[in-house]
Amino acid sequence: MLVVMKPHATAEEIQSVCDHIERLGFRPHPMPGAQRTAIGITGNQGSVEAASLEELSGVAEVIAVSKPYKLVSRDVQAEDTIPRFPGTNATIGGSDLAMIAGPCSVETRDQAFAAAEQVAAAGAQFFRGGAYKPRTSPYAFQGLGERALHIMAEIRDRFGLRIVTEAIDNDALELVDQYADVIQIGARNMQNYSLLKAAGRKRKPVLLKRGLAATLEEFLMAAEYIMSEGNYQVILCERGIRTFADHCRNTLDLSIVPAVQSLSHLPIIVDPSHGTGKRNKVIPLARAAVAVGADGLIVEVHHAPDQALSDGAQSIYPKQFVELMRQASQIAAILDRNVPPGIEVTEPAGASPIAR
Ligand code: PEP
Ligand code: MN
Repeated sequence: MLVVMKPHATAEEIQSVCDHIERLGFRPHPMPGAQRTAIGITGNQGSVEAASLEELSGVAEVIAVSKPYKLVSRDVQAEDTIPRFPGTNATIGGSDLAMIAGPCSVETRDQAFAAAEQVAAAGAQFFRGGAYKPRTSPYAFQGLGERALHIMAEIRDRFGLRIVTEAIDNDALELVDQYADVIQIGARNMQNYSLLKAAGRKRKPVLLKRGLAATLEEFLMAAEYIMSEGNYQVILCERGIRTFADHCRNTLDLSIVPAVQSLSHLPIIVDPSHGTGKRNKVIPLARAAVAVGADGLIVEVHHAPDQALSDGAQSIYPKQFVELMRQASQIAAILDRNVPPGIEVTEPAGASPIAR
């Protein structure tokens, strides 16, 4: 159910509709828009009585949302969601493309700094690096944990890059939330509902990767879990799915980008690294992702991929990232979009545990 407020409804009227929804045992989600505020109603206690809401002051209409996802849907919010990063020029969504780059895993301070310096110089605004790795083998490198988060907080202080890193479970989430700017939920956890709900109780943007076998609807419902807890800053990420094709690690399903954009106001970015698994396919698929209208890219870059402790085969060299940025920016121009020249920091980053 969706309550559409009149264009000139006051803050008090909006608040009193929210209070009324809560009294009925549901959760209100006010979504301010350019023309008017809509209030999404969620809960699993049965259906809401529309009539009692229609009579409240400031209400224009009450609409039933027929789709299973509500808050994710353009029915509830027509305008695009654009997560912003206070004190910087970085956004995800909007006319600027978000470029996120860095190694699969943070392995050492020197390795992470080498990648960060080069991706920052090439114009990335975000640094990615795994601190907690969901590896297929329990004997493979599992990440440096909190030590990696410290290193990335130093990288933010030094280069201004905003930090994107994965929380593999509820314990990691608490630490990632303290140190990072964007909380990544990995493909293997896309349907880990307790983790999704916990991320929904945080207030940092969440980058949600599509599950290896998830349909569009399952992907959007996973985002709905996060939003239903009150965190509306969700970024979707296509990272390849399992198919019978075996020439690549995964099959990058770029057709999901326009499909998501017509149904949802959330930004969607593409990961051509996990999407292909092969270094020589990353730039071509990055080009295609920009052309299809993705809101950004997340790319694995390593200064010495042959020595990487994870995903070396799909990690590109810093020089290749420079080329990727050059090509992406030319393709973006055709779509009236822009690859910003890099991160600009106008205010110091929010307190990270080591930055204080
Ligand atoms: C990663 O980004 O390194 C990662 C593990 O991604 P995914 O969850 O898409 O496999
Ligand atoms: Mn990886």
